[in-house]
Amino acid sequence: MRIVIKIGTSTLTYETGRINIRRVEQLCKIFSDLKNAGHEIILVSSGAIAMGVGKLNMSEKPEEIIDKQAAAATGQCELMYIYDQEFSKFNHNIAQLLITYADIENEKYHNNFRNTLTRLLEYGVIPIINENDTISTEEFSIGDNDTLGAIVSVSVGADMLILLSDIDGLYDSDPRKHPDARLIHEVREITPEIEEMAEGKGTALGTGGMETKITAAKTVTSKGIDMIILNSNKPESLYDVVEGKNAGTRFFGKGR
Ligand code: GLU
Repeated sequence: MRIVIKIGTSTLTYETGRINIRRVEQLCKIFSDLKNAGHEIILVSSGAIAMGVGKLNMSEKPEEIIDKQAAAATGQCELMYIYDQEFSKFNHNIAQLLITYADIENEKYHNNFRNTLTRLLEYGVIPIINENDTISTEEFSIGDNDTLGAIVSVSVGADMLILLSDIDGLYDSDPRKHPDARLIHEVREITPEIEEMAEGKGTALGTGGMETKITAAKTVTSKGIDMIILNSNKPESLYDVVEGKNAGTRFFGKGR
């Protein structure tokens, strides 16, 4: 299977902006194992800004776009350095692809992106994609990596998109406010009711939230691709997801 996995900032870092070493080690081991089992793995990784915040000793995620860009440029190196170290342990090569909204809109650039990505998979590489935050401007950006994950999945005809997050999946109400909120295991159609359940933003250092995830689900499921929201604090459940077992919330691709 061709699997796109989006890793959110809250998965990779602590609130300090410093890397969550244990989590990253666990995840890279499982990604490597899934690859060894024959799956194609493409990562869409956030965390550049957060890691830059940590490295540059900023007290919080900056407001000004130029500071965010400086943080992203600093943090992106750190991010890839860590992935390279972790995947090297299991003899897997990685590649970095940074893209912008303009690259997706432009047919020639988009084709180059898709062709390179496909060729990297043929070479057995694990491509790791992020938005090129240093040249994306706020008005003209993809904006969050749930959306980027969806764009990549459609672009390369993935079988499934997994969004790793700090939440178990979609609840029928906000579990941070309602302790009796119920987890929805399967979504076969994204109704207005489902959209209503998704209101609310993400964490202080990240960008997305449930709304961007539902938009991503709409994009990929309309192309027949499954999307799963999964809590990254139970990394082993990635195996369940890939085997089609119950874990997190699965949005079924049309016709599946
Ligand atoms: N591109 C941003 C980063 O690497 C992440 C965007 C997001 O959190 O969705 O920090």
